[in-house]
Amino acid sequence: MSDVGDMSDMGDRVFNFSAGPATLPEPVLRQAQRDVFNIADSGIGIMEHSHRGKVFERITEETEALCREIGNIPDNYRVFWMQGGATSQCYMVPANFLGEGQTADYFDTGKWAGDSIREVPLYGNLHICGSSAATNHDRILGPADASYSPAPVYVQYTSNNTIVGTEWHDEPANIPAGSFLVCDASSNIFSRPIDVNKYGMIYAGAQKNLGPSGITLLIARDDVLELSPRKLPEMMHYKNHAKWVGRFNTPNTFGVYLMGEVFKWILAEGGLTAMAEKNAAKSDVVYAFLDSQDFYTPHAQKASRSRMNLTFRCPTPELDAEFTRQADKKGLSGLTGHRITKGMRASMYNAFPIEGAHALVDFMKSFALEHAAAAKA
Ligand code: PMP
Repeated sequence: MSDVGDMSDMGDRVFNFSAGPATLPEPVLRQAQRDVFNIADSGIGIMEHSHRGKVFERITEETEALCREIGNIPDNYRVFWMQGGATSQCYMVPANFLGEGQTADYFDTGKWAGDSIREVPLYGNLHICGSSAATNHDRILGPADASYSPAPVYVQYTSNNTIVGTEWHDEPANIPAGSFLVCDASSNIFSRPIDVNKYGMIYAGAQKNLGPSGITLLIARDDVLELSPRKLPEMMHYKNHAKWVGRFNTPNTFGVYLMGEVFKWILAEGGLTAMAEKNAAKSDVVYAFLDSQDFYTPHAQKASRSRMNLTFRCPTPELDAEFTRQADKKGLSGLTGHRITKGMRASMYNAFPIEGAHALVDFMKSFALEHAAAAKA
């Protein structure tokens, strides 16, 4: 393998709080540096291998096997990937599962849930079975908030609301018999143990916890993939993508490879239990501080707080802007909140180090000290 340069010069990396694409594990990036140039002593870099060749076939098999191991995925589920982002699943789900005249239930917990909801009437009937819109999506919905339609084909929810910083800590309760659960898990997939048996389908864009953007992981139960409520273009049939494990057409080969490397890292770190412990520890550092002071206002209600995306504001929008400007200078990058919630958002996915959470709190303390008097004046 040829020399690809000095890989020890990582000292100029900053704490990247970006909501996605987001921080990736350092060992994965280092391995990728090598494999982009020449993978498995093949003399060819990962992005240059044919998706039908032996090397990529092995990578596909390995990435699928690792995914099954990490998620403890039963044999009656298919694991595959697609392009088009999680956003494409907004129409793929109803197109594949919902017949004309049939109903699907959706929980409305924020912008990404809303994007899915928007597409449903193109295919069938929409029922909103719970909504947090009245309080600016500052919470998830408990059993008392859910009112399902009598016989939905499926019930869909977004397990972590990336923009507002809320997270379901359990699956929606008591979904009607005969329906199945669909989950957009883009921003908390594999951040904690998951019981796949509870789902008909789980999908997740990779660019937060799994790898680069441009690839979406899908986990779907066999019987759900058999549903065929209408004629569709071949590219729109889940069944085709599942059958070819993501190689129905030319996949994002680098994305599949990198997802596999991230899976190896998750296993080496101790799997999903370890991920959950680390994510709890990291977010507790910031939430404990937020609860101890009155300069910053958290967006999410306490019981609904996300371990992945932590949202808060300064007393004024001007101070928010100053906060992110100064933070950036100190190597705390990507803290500007989404334009919907404004304020700040600290995204700390699996690969984000706890040192970054401490650095953020140190900065929040000094910034509050510096500006508290002015804010009260
Ligand atoms: N769902 C959720 C929960 C997300 O956070 C995002 C992106 N941030 C999306 C869907 C859309 O993903 P993409 O841009 O990959 O289509």
